[in-house]
Amino acid sequence: MGGQPMFIMSEDSQRTQGRDAQSSNIMAGKAVAESVRTTLGPRGMDKMLVDSSGEVVITNDGATILNEMDIEHPAAQMIVEVADSQEEEVGDGTTTAAVIAGNLLGEAEDLIEQDVHATTIVEGYHEASEIALEAISEQVSEEVVDDEVLKQVAESSMTGKGTGGLTAESLAETVVEAIRHVELEDGVARDNVTVHTQIGASSNATELVPGIVIDEEPAHDGMPGEVEDASLAVLDVELGVRTGEIDAEYSIDSIDQLNTAIDAEESEVRGYAETVAESGADVVFTTEDVDDRVASYLASEGVLVFEGIGDSDAKDIVSATGATRVGALDDLEETDFGQADRISAENYGDDDLAFVEGGAAAETVTVFVRGGTEHVVDELERAIGDALDVVATALASGEVVPGAGATEIAIADKIREEAAGIEGRKQLAVNAFADALDIVPRTLAANTGRDPIDALVDLRSAHDSTGRAGLITSGEEVTIDDPFDYGVIDPADVKREAIESATEAATMIARIDDVIAAE
Ligand code: ADP
Ligand code: MG
Repeated sequence: MGGQPMFIMSEDSQRTQGRDAQSSNIMAGKAVAESVRTTLGPRGMDKMLVDSSGEVVITNDGATILNEMDIEHPAAQMIVEVADSQEEEVGDGTTTAAVIAGNLLGEAEDLIEQDVHATTIVEGYHEASEIALEAISEQVSEEVVDDEVLKQVAESSMTGKGTGGLTAESLAETVVEAIRHVELEDGVARDNVTVHTQIGASSNATELVPGIVIDEEPAHDGMPGEVEDASLAVLDVELGVRTGEIDAEYSIDSIDQLNTAIDAEESEVRGYAETVAESGADVVFTTEDVDDRVASYLASEGVLVFEGIGDSDAKDIVSATGATRVGALDDLEETDFGQADRISAENYGDDDLAFVEGGAAAETVTVFVRGGTEHVVDELERAIGDALDVVATALASGEVVPGAGATEIAIADKIREEAAGIEGRKQLAVNAFADALDIVPRTLAANTGRDPIDALVDLRSAHDSTGRAGLITSGEEVTIDDPFDYGVIDPADVKREAIESATEAATMIARIDDVIAAE
């Protein structure tokens, strides 16, 4: 190649290598994890996030916070992904996973400074995470996961979240009822539970609707507000004369012709109304518009019609009632109808809602949540979403572990025990993994105003003597005791996922020693 220099990268690209690359990545990852640390646990604080357009979100939810923050650094982005995959896989434990990942990075940084090679750290972390999974299985409760336990799981996931005026207890009851409703022989159809929020009333009115709720009002005031034992049709049909059609068909140059045109239009409109009425449908949902005259005629026939419904609402109604969507009125047959025990139109302040309950719809349930303001309702929706996820997870696997830091204390203890038998520098990495897990009880302590070091010492000694010790918050009290006795319970899968996703992200970041960024 004649001694010519060879350029493989554009001159504008930036390159950071070796220790510099490692430490800048680690710092970014740690910083992101640190940003959610104060929200962990029942005494965690909320964050107020304001985006560039001034939109405000107030939340305690790790995944929500990390996603609202405008994070650009690629290593930091990997911590956001930890929270995201945690949210996706098990629906809770996002703060825990991010905080553990951040601390694994912090420990890795110390090890690198002591000249422990990244590869050794990665191996040690993987070995430690295997031990952690064993420790989690050892912590699984031997008790049957019944409704009582499920309620405790739900409550544990909601403590510290803004649940408005609602007690976590009554919410937990609704959540468990909802999940039991969609329980299958071999799992839980979590997707069949939806949450519908409604701003206005005080939040002590949250109920379970055996069906679905959509934001729609009847097409005409004279229509019935409620239909029992309803046969319903779901249409993608405009019930009226399309604007423009008339002009195209008739060129009007005399009063007679105009009258003919009006008559033709009238009879076309009446035709639609009669076809619908004669089909036998009690309730009609259409994604298109309904002419006022059609609506008025159908009202007089006692048919309840909702017009202009959204495509996803139409899909929900179809799957909940067994209806078939019909694209042309001539094709409408009785076999296309869905069934519901009750369809009703109700008014809530400024909003009108349609409830489709029971019948074939009984397969789906809606947690109907009300709250005073948008912020209350939004956070309530996230809290209920988490609670639905953890209850579904706990019910599906039947495995729960103690919360309040007890599981993390037990994992760290087991790892330290086994580390003694691991040769060479890898032992340092395995021990560092245990140290990283201490962040959970330490943070729970710090967020209650306790001295984290004292709390850790007390927790370990209680764990040594009883085998199960957490830092339990109940009301104003903070106690070190067995979390099972206080109903502070998490699904085992939430802990497993947190360990796995945090390990994966931390080892991936620690391994990088070369960052090449195109400008
Ligand atoms: P995450 O996003 O990780 O779920 P949370 O803010 O929901 O974060 O806090 C979860 C942690 O709080 C878990 O470790 C759980 O066991 C613990 N926790 C829940 N309720 C209590 C309680 N009453 N006392 C102490 N810890 C609790
Ligand atoms: Mg949680």
